[in-house]
Amino acid sequence: MIVMKFGGTSVAGFEAITRTIGIIRQKVSRKPVVVVSAMSKITDLLYKMADAAAAKDGSEAMHILEEIRNRHIETAEQLLEGHAGLLLPAVSHVNELCDELEHTVNAVCALGELSDRSKAVIVSNGELLSSAIISYAMTARGINTQWVDARKMIITSGDFLNGEPDINEINARVPAAINAAYRGYDAVITQGFIASTADGIPSVLGRGGSDYSASLIGMAIDAQAIEIWTDVDGVLTADPRMVPGAKRLERLSFEEAAEMAHFGSKVLHPLTIEPAVRKNIPIYVLNSMNPTCEGTLILGSSKIEDGVKSVSFKQNILVINIYSTKMINASGFLSKVFDIFSRNGVSVDLISTTEANISVTCDSSTRNIDKVVKELSEFSEVVVDQDKAQVSVVGKNLVNIPGAVRKIFTPLQGTKMYMISQGASYINLSIVIDRALVPDTVNAIHDSLFS
Ligand code: ASP
Ligand code: MG
Repeated sequence: MIVMKFGGTSVAGFEAITRTIGIIRQKVSRKPVVVVSAMSKITDLLYKMADAAAAKDGSEAMHILEEIRNRHIETAEQLLEGHAGLLLPAVSHVNELCDELEHTVNAVCALGELSDRSKAVIVSNGELLSSAIISYAMTARGINTQWVDARKMIITSGDFLNGEPDINEINARVPAAINAAYRGYDAVITQGFIASTADGIPSVLGRGGSDYSASLIGMAIDAQAIEIWTDVDGVLTADPRMVPGAKRLERLSFEEAAEMAHFGSKVLHPLTIEPAVRKNIPIYVLNSMNPTCEGTLILGSSKIEDGVKSVSFKQNILVINIYSTKMINASGFLSKVFDIFSRNGVSVDLISTTEANISVTCDSSTRNIDKVVKELSEFSEVVVDQDKAQVSVVGKNLVNIPGAVRKIFTPLQGTKMYMISQGASYINLSIVIDRALVPDTVNAIHDSLFS
């Protein structure tokens, strides 16, 4: 079996879905488990609708709901033209989901109050809708397809909107559900992103979580491969919107891909790699708009050569500078500082320290940063910098590649660097610079390394 995950742009409408089904058809003999995202922009609309309902703006919420309903019905009509026997159940399936959504949204509007639990129910509908119509469209094109509810297989704990997968439950439930679904069918389709708690309450894995679903499913069924179908030719040496000359990477290690995803590359969800590593399953990143391109293959590190692989960046970061003369010659200061981060659930990316100063970076969307700052301020001087960004160069054994470090720093002459960080794993060298300098700096480092 293989897992084939298709992102929002690969299922955006009639043409994209038709192309996607063509890709699936080629692989039916490998028993694909198809994992789909919501149609592009639908999840954004669902979050917006939930917020409108919470603000008691019923007319805005209903307006969004009708837009969602119409887009799915129109797409189903295009996909199932000439298949009345499938179009009718497909349209009534869309209507059922949208009617139920309307009830939920009306209840939220009436109360003007939205819990994470209700929000998870609302935002789950994008994948429920897309997987339903694609399943009918696959059947109409001769691939007899069974639809499986991911909420019965992917079990999470903790936060309803950023659920923490329960690996043991997933390993137990996914193979049973997929094997049962395969009986008598050519293919199985399920949803990315959506999950439920152990007692069956809907949850989701966090924005962009469909990749993560695909790799959890791949892990649980011991898939031969996990294919992540997206709208770019694979993992590139940089974000092509920032660096027009970015090149496709043929191969990457799991570790390199994880660092890149975590440090700003937008191709894969950062947690996608970990379940694949557990079972050593190769991940292919492929382009559904250009299916003959070989994409990028991500494998265990032993099969990957040393080399610089990419330049990525994160603009949505905060730098927290902590000064305290109490740190000088004192032991236990660092643990006191990081205990505060840990108790507030704030994870840090980069750290650098001098005798009386600790600087750390973290994602600016992280909750509880204000609490961390308040607690730190009780015994040190804290300055939070909002207008900085982080640029990272990733590559296996990068520091030992002759000339690599020089090539990274030569174009930075004259650029003010606030932090420089390189872990002992030699796989990531990151610097913090002024946010305004990101485009020029990323391009200059990329040119220096790759051209
Ligand atoms: N539809 C979800 C989102 O947009 C999950 C995904 O596409 O990966 O965040
Ligand atoms: Mg997506």
